[in-house]
Amino acid sequence: MNRDPGCIFCRIASKEVGAKIVYEDEKIMAVEDVNPQAPVHLLVIPKSHIPTLQDIGDEESGLMDTLFQVIKRLAKDRGLSEKGYRVVVNCGPAGGQTVYHLHLHLLGGRNMKWPPG
Ligand code: AMP
Ligand code: ZN
Repeated sequence: MNRDPGCIFCRIASKEVGAKIVYEDEKIMAVEDVNPQAPVHLLVIPKSHIPTLQDIGDEESGLMDTLFQVIKRLAKDRGLSEKGYRVVVNCGPAGGQTVYHLHLHLLGGRNMKWPPG
C-alpha cells in the first residue's frame, strides 16, 4: 500500500487520525466529510496514496469502477437512489482540489445547482 505520512487521508486510512468511517474494505474507505456541503456528504477514498485523478496508473484502470461501485452502494444505503445525487472529483488547483489524495465526493439530500462554482 502506497502511503504518504504527511497526508491526512493516509493517516485516516492507517487509523492515526480519527474520522467517521462509514465503509471500509481492504482497498477503499468512505468517511463523512468534516465540512459537509449537503445533508449527505461522503468521501470515497482509495487507501493507497494517489495524489490526483491524473495520477491513476494504467495498471490501476479498474480503480474508478470499484470506487463507483462503493458510491452506488452508499447512495442506496442513504436513500439517494430515487431522487438522485452528485459525484464530484476535484482535480488539481483549477479544479479546486485541496487534499492531494484522490477522493470522490458523494453529495445528496438536497437539489444541486448547475453550473457549480
Ligand atoms: P477537495 O477540495 O476535493 O480536495 O476536498 C477535500 C475534502 O476533504 C473537503 O470537502 C474537506 O472538508 C474534507 N476533509 C479535509 N480533512 C478532512 C478530515 N480530516 N476528515 C474528513 N474530511 C476532511
Ligand atoms: Zn494519502
